Amino acid sequence: MPYDPDNIFAKILRGEIPCFKIFEDEHTLSFLDIMPATQGHTLVIPKEPGETLFDISPTAAAATIKTTQIVASAVKRAFDAPGIMLVQLNGKAAGQSVPHLHFHILPRFHGIDMNLHGREMADISNLEPIAEKIRCEI
Ligand code: 5GP
Repeated sequence: MPYDPDNIFAKILRGEIPCFKIFEDEHTLSFLDIMPATQGHTLVIPKEPGETLFDISPTAAAATIKTTQIVASAVKRAFDAPGIMLVQLNGKAAGQSVPHLHFHILPRFHGIDMNLHGREMADISNLEPIAEKIRCEI
């Protein structure tokens, strides 16, 4: 499948659609998931275009993991989360819905289930304080 330059994350990278940004460097961008499966659900994407982990360069893959480590540890501190779940889906058959590589960072707590991801829109007014809480830990 050729990369679709009009996917939603490509539009976020070009600044055509807003996001609640957490972190950015030369190779990566991190922002809140708009339909969070848990409070603090954060995404990390490479700037290099690619649908799955198998479609990007080793340099972009390494940078994406590095940013995921930085942001996930900030999310862990921000929510005092005993567990952090990382999820990364490759291809529609695996459940991927946005065709630009991304890692999900999900804080997890004993006995608290997740929502189904990508189903329910967050209350937008709640997202900026959550983003700020995470940014403060980076
Ligand atoms: P996937 O199913 O591809 O692994 O996950 C895609 C994620 O992107 C979902 O969790 C969904 O909530 C999130 N998402 C979809 N559209 C947008 C959007 O416009 N902005 C943000 N920030 N997240 C989105």
